[in-house]
Amino acid sequence: MESRKIPKKELVADLVKKVVFSHKSIDSQEELASLVEKELKKYDKDYVITPTRVKRIALEIKEIEVKAKTKKSLNMQKITSCPICNSPIDEIKVKNLANREIVIGYKCVKCGYQSDLEAFVPMKYIFVWKGDS
Ligand SMILES: [Zn+2]
Repeated sequence: MESRKIPKKELVADLVKKVVFSHKSIDSQEELASLVEKELKKYDKDYVITPTRVKRIALEIKEIEVKAKTKKSLNMQKITSCPICNSPIDEIKVKNLANREIVIGYKCVKCGYQSDLEAFVPMKYIFVWKGDS
């Protein structure tokens, strides 16, 4: 029987911090996810995590800077309110390698709905520790 468990966000956030702190910089969300998953399995071998979820959690950690490996802003459909609950929606922004801010997705301020570029364009990210340089 297949058993997969979804780890709690707090645990994932702790491990993301630990992993990025020890590597200082991680070159892709796939690599970050596999390092975090390795740590998760020490708690429970059935834990699974996706690169997209790891990235979303990393975006909320203030000690970690997420950078997009793209030169220009990508055109994505502009949304101004949440398609689920109609609340105002926030842009999720990161800097690219040229230090220019780009929008990588949208997040509802109320219901947690989140939409990102992954759905349309594969994106590359770098995760850099900036907590105590
Ligand atoms: Zn909403």
